[in-house]
Formats: sequence, structure tokens, C-alpha cells
Amino acid sequence: MAVNTNDLMSTIVSLAKRRGFIFQSSEIYGGLNSCWDYGPLGVELKRNVKDAWWRAMVTNRRDVVGLDASILMHPKVWEASGHLTGFSDPMVDCKKCKERFRADHLENLDKCPKPKCGGELTEVRKFNLMFKTFMGPVEDSSATVYMRPETAQGIFVNFLNVQQSSRLKPPFGIAQIGKSFRNEITPGNFTYRTREFEQMEMEFFVPPTEDEKWYGYWRDARLQWYKDYGIKPDHLRLRDHEKDELAHYAKACVDVEYLFPFGWSELEGIANRTDYDLKQHEQFSGKGMAYFDDESKSHYHPFVVEPAAGADRATLAFLVDAYHVEGEGKDERVVLRFHPALAPVKVAVLPLVKKDGMPEMGEKIYRDLLDNSIKSFYDHTASIGRRYARQDEAGTPFCVTIDTQSLEDQTVTVRERDSREQYRVASSELVGLIQKKMRESMK
Ligand SMILES: [Zn+2]
Repeated sequence: MAVNTNDLMSTIVSLAKRRGFIFQSSEIYGGLNSCWDYGPLGVELKRNVKDAWWRAMVTNRRDVVGLDASILMHPKVWEASGHLTGFSDPMVDCKKCKERFRADHLENLDKCPKPKCGGELTEVRKFNLMFKTFMGPVEDSSATVYMRPETAQGIFVNFLNVQQSSRLKPPFGIAQIGKSFRNEITPGNFTYRTREFEQMEMEFFVPPTEDEKWYGYWRDARLQWYKDYGIKPDHLRLRDHEKDELAHYAKACVDVEYLFPFGWSELEGIANRTDYDLKQHEQFSGKGMAYFDDESKSHYHPFVVEPAAGADRATLAFLVDAYHVEGEGKDERVVLRFHPALAPVKVAVLPLVKKDGMPEMGEKIYRDLLDNSIKSFYDHTASIGRRYARQDEAGTPFCVTIDTQSLEDQTVTVRERDSREQYRVASSELVGLIQKKMRESMK
């Protein structure tokens, strides 16, 4: 079914609200611009996305360890990183309608771009994107601290702590998932561009001669990760940054982009940051940040290859890509074809009717699934067709129905979300079957 792209995005926004994936923040007060809350299904989806990333980047690797650094850091960190002086957008204000615009997005800096306004614009001013706050009871400049605009710096300042305590030798990586804050001038596109967001970043420290090899490695590995979790390959592409797009310290950078209804947009950047960050922190802190290589008995500053992904952007891409409308007329169904590992709920337990011992058998199966850490849902209201439809729309990969035959021979019907195939299994074998299906989906 062909859908207009704007309609598609608004359909997904309203489905997200109706089914409890994503709500507007502080909605009863009219909402807060660009802030969103993940509801019961959304929080499961996003956790599963972060878990999938952590498995691929940390758990299943011998050369990457994790870190959880604090959001508030010493203000000097942001001097060293360049955020205090360089992390800003050039802005102009309209003197008439008071609206603010990014100067580099305007063709004409003489007058307001709004057709009905045309007011005079102010001089271009730099607008720093970091959120500022105060530490302690006194609100003066010596107490100023910043909400981190990226998680990466927490990794760089801990480079030697982690390397020495874990006795690591380059090439190795340090990974972190956490919230970051940027006072974006123009947030938008639902959860795509927000001022508070969650990052999944990994800094991979390599000998200076191996940076290009590892840059190529992570570029391929990160693109593959999105495909492994079910994003259609023709909705993904790699886009190399042009020379003039590169941050001044970066030798190369490539974006993994996804074809959102609002166009190709970045999900993740993979950058060769060279030895810039470690050397900056060495200079600003006065502490040596070089690695001592036991074999060559010499110090060097490792180069850094950084895959930096957005947890909210990835979650939105998985949600958008999963959305399907199938069939016609009364056979039409909305189905979220999530990868089973990402699906918020794995199994719905559905007694056919609310009597004859079916709910009791259903409860027992439900309990058994939960005891095995399989996120499940129990529902004995409405017709079975309605209940299947609700689960399709929530992206639940398996429905389990208890009927008259179940009471006689202790079997249940398993219905698969995507194929709608149905088959009977012994209820005692259900947990094992679901676990096997989940394992197989991970290959
Ligand atoms: Zn104006």
C-alpha cells in the first residue's frame, strides 16, 4: 500500500502514542518542545536496542570494555574538547517577529525569511549549544557546569584509568551508553532531533599506524549491525563526509544513514578522530595521556576510531522500518515486524474464552514464561481476531492460544506474527520453543 511520506510519519506518531511507545513530555501542561517520554512498549523497545548494541560492542567481544561516566564533568573538559568555544551555531534574530534562524541556513541575511514578515535581522551571533547549570547553592560563574553534549569525553578522560585497571593494550575500545544534551535551535522530526538524547558511543584506541584499517572495519561492522536487526538494506546507506564537512580534528568520517519518511538522515557517525582528544586533555590537564608500550619500551598517543550512534534515532528507525500495512478491506492489518530480539513483548498468552479452565491454564503458561525472563503479555478480553490484531500492532512475534483441545491434551496453538502460520505444541515445550526461536533469530 502506497502511503504519502508525511502521512506515514504522522501515522507512526499517532500509533506510538495510542499503543504506548512514545508520549509527548509533560503533555497535560501542553508539552515541552522536543522532549518525549517512552511508554511501556517504547521503553522495552529502546532497552532492547541498547542491549543489542551493548552485546555487539561489549559483551560478545574480547577487545571492548564498558564505562558509565557522570553527566556533569569538570568545566575544563569542555575547554579541552573545544565545545566551550567551538560548539556553537551562527544565529540571527528577526527584529520584527523575534524568531531566531541559523545564519548558515539562510540565503539572504538582509531580511527575515518568513514571507509575511520580511523584518530586519540582527548581526550574526554565536549561540553555544551546551546546557549550562550551577553546581552547589551559589549561582555564580565559578559554579558553572555543563550538561555533557556527548558521552565521548567521559571516555577520553578515563582512558588511562580503564587501560591500566583492565591491563588493556591497543587496539581496544571503551563503550558507553548515556544521556547527552544539546540546546539545538531547530529540534524536530519526532524523536529524531531532540535536546535531550541518549548516545551509544565507543572509542576504539589503536596504534597510530592501524587507524585506517580499523576505520574500515568499524564502518562495515556498524552498517551490518542495523541489517542484522532487520532494517531493509535499501533503506540504509553510508555517506562519506566531504573534506569541508569534517571536524577539524577528524581524518575521515562516514555516516550510516536511514531513509526516514522525512528523507535520508544520520543514524550514526564513524569517525577517525586521530590522537586529537588524548593530546588535548594532556595539554589542558597537564597529565600524560600517552600509552606505554611494554614491547617497544616507548610512549605513544593512540589514534581513535569512534562509532557514535543515537539510541533514540536507532529506536525510531527500527520502529519506522517495522511498520507495515498489509491486506485489503476487512483483512487489512497493521503489523510491526520487529526483529524478535527488539520486539517489546515476545509472547502474548490468549485463552480463547474466559471460562472452562482456559484462563487458569493461560495464567500458568504466562507465569512460566515470565519465570524464564520472556517478556510476555496476558489478554483474555475481546475476540481472538481483535486480540491478534492488537498484538500485530505491538509487534509481538508469538501469540499462544489456549482452546478446548488444550484442556484435553495440554497442547496450545502458537501463531507467528509475520507468516500468521499456526501450529500446536505441548504446553510443557512452549518455553523451550520460544527460547530456540529467539536464539535462531540472533544468528
Ligand atoms: Zn520576522
